[in-house]
Amino acid sequence: MLKNSKSIMLLNGACAITGTSLLAIKHGVPDELVWWIVSFLVVSAARMVLLRKLKREGFASARPRATIRLMALSAFFQGMVWALLPVFIRSLDLLSSDSAITLLLTGLICGAAIRQNGSSLVSFSFSAPIIISLAWTFITLGGYVGIITTIELTLLVATVGHRMVDSERRFLRIEVSKLENEAVNRSLTLANEDIRQKNLRLETLANGDPVTGLFNRIYFNGKMAGEIITAGVNKQGLALILIDIDRFKLINDAFGHRSGDQFLTIIGQRLRQAAGNSAIVSRISADEFAILMRGDDAAARSEALTTRILQDCREPIFLGSKSTIPSLSSGLAYFPDHANDADSLFTAASMALMEAKQAGRRQWRIFNPRIRDRIDRQRRIEQDLENAIRTGKVEAWFQPQLDLTTGAVVGFEALARWFHPELGAVSPPEIFGAAHAIQLSEQLTARIAEDACRLLQKLPDLGLPEATVAINISPRDFTLFAVSDMLDRMIETYDLPPHRLEVEITEEAMLDPEVAGEELHKLERAGYKLAVDDFGMGHTSLTYLIDLKIDRLKIDRSFVADVANNRTNHALIAAMVSLGTALNMEILVEGVETREELETLRRMGCDIGQGYFFSRPIPADMITNWLTQFRNKNPQASRAVA
Ligand code: C2E
Ligand code: CA
Ligand code: CA
Repeated sequence: MLKNSKSIMLLNGACAITGTSLLAIKHGVPDELVWWIVSFLVVSAARMVLLRKLKREGFASARPRATIRLMALSAFFQGMVWALLPVFIRSLDLLSSDSAITLLLTGLICGAAIRQNGSSLVSFSFSAPIIISLAWTFITLGGYVGIITTIELTLLVATVGHRMVDSERRFLRIEVSKLENEAVNRSLTLANEDIRQKNLRLETLANGDPVTGLFNRIYFNGKMAGEIITAGVNKQGLALILIDIDRFKLINDAFGHRSGDQFLTIIGQRLRQAAGNSAIVSRISADEFAILMRGDDAAARSEALTTRILQDCREPIFLGSKSTIPSLSSGLAYFPDHANDADSLFTAASMALMEAKQAGRRQWRIFNPRIRDRIDRQRRIEQDLENAIRTGKVEAWFQPQLDLTTGAVVGFEALARWFHPELGAVSPPEIFGAAHAIQLSEQLTARIAEDACRLLQKLPDLGLPEATVAINISPRDFTLFAVSDMLDRMIETYDLPPHRLEVEITEEAMLDPEVAGEELHKLERAGYKLAVDDFGMGHTSLTYLIDLKIDRLKIDRSFVADVANNRTNHALIAAMVSLGTALNMEILVEGVETREELETLRRMGCDIGQGYFFSRPIPADMITNWLTQFRNKNPQASRAVA
């Protein structure tokens, strides 16, 4: 608005100096001219002061209308001064010798119109006195030249005035849209800031774990991906520590979910405190935490930290009136040694964690390629197991059991076998572990039980009508499916008397009567033979042995090793034999490998023996051959059977 005012004033000043110089040359310096120039300077100075004040105090933008009125008023005074020039100096001959002044004044009017295009009021205030003064002067001059000049002057002023109003409108439109744009911009900036603040709040909520206040998995994953890129560029190391609470489900079940949350919060606090500020600590799933450490010595620091965490976390946690001692397992993996992207680093640490858990919990492991091989193998087993069960690739092999007195074959134990085309022999614990992981335990056990039933059907033809076949039922099986129902269906299908099927359970199964108790009694009532496997390894209470009608104790093979010379083993076996005899149970010894062991065990009163000395487990279709060879070598044994 005030943009052109200064230049207009300078133009005014220049015009005044030229005009008065011209007049002074022609007319000398009359008093009127002096008065005029003095009033011009006074008004100009006043305008300058006003202009500076308006500009400096931001008055123009704060009060635009008042500014225009003030500018118009000052322009009016300036115009009045100019208007006084022809009136004041009566001797002027404006149409001939002093026509330069006429031109000057007309020029000023036009100049004002063009330069002050922002405000017609200012232009009018300036121009009006000059026009009136000029017109009045020409009219009073009289004559046709004066009249024509007045008319032309009027036309010129009208044209310029029209242009002036027009450009003012345009100017106003531009100004209004400028203001509107500014307003839109301002509100957009405000809205942006609002959104930014809200985003920030949402981000905090979205990144945080509400229970522990640590970072959550989404944030942690993003952060880890970023840190890996940075570490890659800077050639630095990273260490990922995964920490899992052992058997957290039990804590939840025993103390309730609210206490479970409290437990997690305390563990979170302990981890945060132990890790310090430079590490990123997060809860990545219900009972799993992750810590990311940066820097070249990240590996060494993470190992020290993990040792400390596993140690310190053993401090009891009080939940209400009870306390519990936390147990943590942990797996570590390093970038770039073990993985070069976030996913693989995570997988490596998870594998190390799995290894720690399998090693018995409350331990930590660092990833190494052997762990990957093992876990890859485990995955492959899980992938192929279902098909292998269905197609009979997983099957039972049978290990004979011999009466140690007569030397006769009295039974077989069914042992799971699977020869994988690529992985080679898959051990029973691997097979059963995988079956549990993919919920195939029942199908697998049923598959072995079925093979056992098939052999039982064949045994009379092999001259062994009373021989038994034992199957192993793990304590976990009792928690997963109705073992007795499955076996009932099986012996019914194969039309077999239940007492020829022996069920080997471990001491562990008997220790949890809530889970297995009822099932074991059902098996007993149904007439299956019951054997306690690996006897001597667990903590079987005598009550359980008596309460459940156990037919046979299978003394674990660890006692059999070197029984002839090892006094402790000798004494332990002797104790177990006398216990079994007192309770009217058969004593079977596993893992008989030498004739010396066989002789010692027989002398000690063991009834039955099973071990490599007699035979390794063999496939069902080789039993006939094996029996023929065995009978040829031991004619007295065949007599005993017959
Ligand atoms: P277990 O029930 O104690 O089975 C005896 C294990 O000792 C068998 O190992 C057998 O091959 C081995 N063995 C037999 N005689 C000797 C010997 O003279 N010396 C030595 N060193 N070992 C001998 P295997 O077949 O590897 O089975 C290992 C374990 O896997 C079994 O121990 C049993 O707990 C489990 N298992 C095997 N098959 C099954 C099954 O069908 N169901 C269930 N639930 N578990 C099974
Ligand atoms: Ca067994
Ligand atoms: Ca055993």
